[in-house]
Amino acid sequence: MSWINNVRKVVPYVPGEQPKAENLIKLNTNECPYPPSPRVMEAMQTLSANCMRLYPDPAVSDLRQALADYYKVKVEQVFVGVGSDDVIANAFMTFFNSEKPILFPDITYSFYDVWAELFHIPYERIALTEDFRIDPKDYKRENGGIIFPNPNAPTGVLEDLSMIEEVLEANPDVVVMVDEAYIDFGGVSALSLLEKYDNLLVVQTFSKSRAMAGMRIGFAIGSETMISYLNDVKFSFNSYTMNQTSIAMGVACVKDDAYFKDIVGKVVATRERVKKELRDLGFSFPDSMSNFIFATHETIPAAELFEVCKKENIFVRYFKKPRIDNYLRISIGTDEEMDQLLQVLKTYIKQ
Ligand SMILES: *Cc1c(COP(=O)(O)O)cnc(C)c1O
Repeated sequence: MSWINNVRKVVPYVPGEQPKAENLIKLNTNECPYPPSPRVMEAMQTLSANCMRLYPDPAVSDLRQALADYYKVKVEQVFVGVGSDDVIANAFMTFFNSEKPILFPDITYSFYDVWAELFHIPYERIALTEDFRIDPKDYKRENGGIIFPNPNAPTGVLEDLSMIEEVLEANPDVVVMVDEAYIDFGGVSALSLLEKYDNLLVVQTFSKSRAMAGMRIGFAIGSETMISYLNDVKFSFNSYTMNQTSIAMGVACVKDDAYFKDIVGKVVATRERVKKELRDLGFSFPDSMSNFIFATHETIPAAELFEVCKKENIFVRYFKKPRIDNYLRISIGTDEEMDQLLQVLKTYIKQ
């Protein structure tokens, strides 16, 4: 079977489980526990049959315009894709084409190395400090590009803009991508740095803070030049990436800012309460500014607690990886869901 030699072989990314059982508490993939805005549901119901019959707008103009208005940038600075996974994959293809390695943290979103492998991009993992921080000095070396999430995943650690600025300043000749999947839960976006740095690309998603993981909407904001290169690649790959339903629902979502702020506020309030309760149970964690907590227990191994929760139909995320194999990543659900989790943990730990 000689054709096997020519196969592009990859070890794919493994997403968190999407279990089908009923009555389970799902705290393993950082979805929003609340439904999207009622306006989003209305937008879906008013779609005409033509939306199905015709191709969608390949430029996704309505959604890009809504995002441009919301974030006060030009529409030419906005790129949208089918989830930020699609956006980042396109951005890797477009901007990471050097012989030099791209850089990202050793503990980070585990899709980055998969895309690097897929596109044959050399890469280096840069160790986070002992307390899971990014040291900008580590990014002052030759490289073909840089990407990191802020807040980082799965640690939840937020870096401030001065760190990001230091990385941007030291790397004017490569693209620096900041993956802001969790920025709405209390961080300050790097969008304000766009005026000063034309090598910056900021990526965000509707999947976490906007309660729309199932509709697959992600976007990037950068300089007009950068976005036009990104669009050239997208249009060379698949013109109609985003379906009409997602476009219409995405626009409605962006326009209901009060609802967005309300659900984000609820998640943040629950997170802060759960932090306190987890500490009382003997957990410690880096302070999280995302919609999850990355916690380790003083005596009981994370792998064991993962199984304990699973038996009670509570799904959290466990990564069997160096440095983090004694941590659980717990998404923030509703107050009721978190109370059930805390009860299960309390019963097991205190027995
Ligand atoms: C969830 C997540 C994404 C991708 O989300 P999409 O659903 O594809 O928009 C990207 N980066 C990080 C760090 C994430 O946690």
